[in-house]
Amino acid sequence: MPPRGPQTTQEHAQTERRHAMVAEQIETRGIHDADVLSALRTVPRHLFVPAEVADQAYGDGALPIGYGQTISQPYIVALMTVLAELTVRSRVLEVGSGSGYQTAVLAELAGEVYTIERRPELAERARLALERLGYHNVTCVLGDGSLGLPEQAPFDRIVVTAAAPAPPPPLLAQLADGGRLVVPVGSVGGDQVLTVVSRTAAGLSEVAGIPCRFVPLVGERGFHDPGAQDPRP
Ligand code: SAM
Repeated sequence: MPPRGPQTTQEHAQTERRHAMVAEQIETRGIHDADVLSALRTVPRHLFVPAEVADQAYGDGALPIGYGQTISQPYIVALMTVLAELTVRSRVLEVGSGSGYQTAVLAELAGEVYTIERRPELAERARLALERLGYHNVTCVLGDGSLGLPEQAPFDRIVVTAAAPAPPPPLLAQLADGGRLVVPVGSVGGDQVLTVVSRTAAGLSEVAGIPCRFVPLVGERGFHDPGAQDPRP
């Protein structure tokens, strides 16, 4: 968690918007984990979205971040963070850095966060935003996160912010004993379910949660790459 100094008037106004976001969108939907609420009140979401949508940063929805990708709805970020059950000792892998916003929320609560993004432009933008805000417990990696990060494994928690056809086997293999994988599972643009897989002494157990809608996890152990698509934002 980076150190913070006094706020300017503008920053104070954004802080008020964030507090309203948490009260109106998160608490009213039944999330009361004090640490998660505090992280959402702290991380400046407006600094993770493109300038043209910055005025909507504290709205109740996903927003475009370019390259056909999105920053998730604040409620979904909060829910995934609750499901991850982080502690200050957790080593976390996030697959799908996107804007870097969920990364920052994870970094507020966990000891160490690795985040991997397949799109170079987004990976660099997320890295810069996280660096500017002083998140020194985050390592940004460019690559195919459907394969995990074997050289840094095992992870106590793995959070996947794109939908997979099934929990990717490399991620399951990189989960520490007592670890939890949070991953949306389903079809591209169709039915998806936020799923938690836990590794216990008895093996892996899977619990299906709420329906959700995420962009696809594209990679070797995700969905097929739709091809050399138009790389413009
Ligand atoms: N957590 C992000 C945030 O707070 O902005 C939202 C992530 S967005 C919904 C999903 C991201 O996953 C996209 O940036 C996409 O490029 C990325 N992605 C998709 N497949 C991936 C893969 N195999 N490895 C790494 N990143 C991937």
